[in-house]
Amino acid sequence: IMFGMVAGVVIGLLLQALLAGQSEVYIPLGLFDFPVKSVFVDGFFHIGGQIFIASLKMLVVPLVFISLVCGTCSLSDPKKLGRLGGKSIGLYLLTTAVAITVAISLALLVSPGVGYDVPTNASFDAKQAPTLVQVIINMFPTNPISAMADGNMLQVIVFALLFGIAMALSGEAGKRIATIFEDLNTVILKLVTLLMNLAPYGVFCLMAKLFTTIEMGLIIGLAKYFFVVVAALFIHALINYSIILKTLTGLSPIKFLRKMKDACLFAFSTSSSSATMPVTLETATKKLGAHNSVASFTVPLGATINMDGTAIMQGVATVFIAQVFAVDLTISDYLMVILTATLASVGTAGVPGVGLIMLAMVLNQVGLPVEGIAIIMGVDRLLDMTRTAVNVTGDCMVTCVVAKSEKEFDVEIFNDPNAAKTLE
Ligand code: ASP
Repeated sequence: IMFGMVAGVVIGLLLQALLAGQSEVYIPLGLFDFPVKSVFVDGFFHIGGQIFIASLKMLVVPLVFISLVCGTCSLSDPKKLGRLGGKSIGLYLLTTAVAITVAISLALLVSPGVGYDVPTNASFDAKQAPTLVQVIINMFPTNPISAMADGNMLQVIVFALLFGIAMALSGEAGKRIATIFEDLNTVILKLVTLLMNLAPYGVFCLMAKLFTTIEMGLIIGLAKYFFVVVAALFIHALINYSIILKTLTGLSPIKFLRKMKDACLFAFSTSSSSATMPVTLETATKKLGAHNSVASFTVPLGATINMDGTAIMQGVATVFIAQVFAVDLTISDYLMVILTATLASVGTAGVPGVGLIMLAMVLNQVGLPVEGIAIIMGVDRLLDMTRTAVNVTGDCMVTCVVAKSEKEFDVEIFNDPNAAKTLE
């Protein structure tokens, strides 16, 4: 997968240099001229990448529903479900608040927006972000089938939990259905494994296509903003997560981070924690050692409500935009930013670019111009990829903490460097 990614980046950059801003380049082959961009970039790479993403997304709803039903009905103690919910939601919100605090502090220290000229033509169409009340009401599906059809994960999670609890309470009938769900779970996990074999090619296609078109030059103009976000992402993923994991579980952060490699590569190349979910779940259970009864709940929940990386971008972006437009923000404004960004992450699913939509909500809240988003949009794709890897790492870290505290954790798997090494 790593090889596919690096090869994709290199080929993409080479193609970008070859195209040098032209819409097509032809290589004369005697009989005809070979159109490089149409065949490779818009052809092979585009088709391969889109099929790869589609097959990952295809797995998400059945995987979450089936494994969550299995996880819930196998929980021996019904009170445990409440504890699981409380602990994971609490930790998800807490880590997000820590993330954005670090981001704002670092941005205030470096001042990336001071001295940046406001472009006159900036404009951004802000979409309406949902309110917290709407988010809570929307968690309950009126129609579970349409929730699944729309891929509304919070609704699917709520339905699967209720279904699993009812199964556990239904005696013999529940037990009979449970065996069917266990079998379905085995089959769907097999499907995940099969698709994983295609990952190196899929990742290659995605990277090659992206790096043919990505404008690296834009990063230079926004270098300060870009690198403050990247630095805050690394500080959070490497230092904050290590401290939290070590303090709450005693587990080795180095081993944890090593085992996150595959999931991070997936997150990086797809820019979507939702699409990465099949890999995150496998990583949490087969590599890190969390039991399915916990991971099947915390991972899909995390992919929806936990976005530490996204919150970091929002924190830095808020400070940057405030400095560019020379607006002074007070301490209470910053507290408002922390609160809004943390809550905004609950209501939006992990798909590419959603962080910018949430940012509009944060900016509105503190009265900053939403047009500021247009300034940073050009460099957002690369940051989106990086922050999605952090989002997914956060989901797994919290999963380990909750699973360990519930004694639903296999330390031997965690310590075994070869556990599911290739996820096959
Ligand atoms: N792409 C991110 C995710 O899926 C969300 C974002 O920051 O835009 O986790």
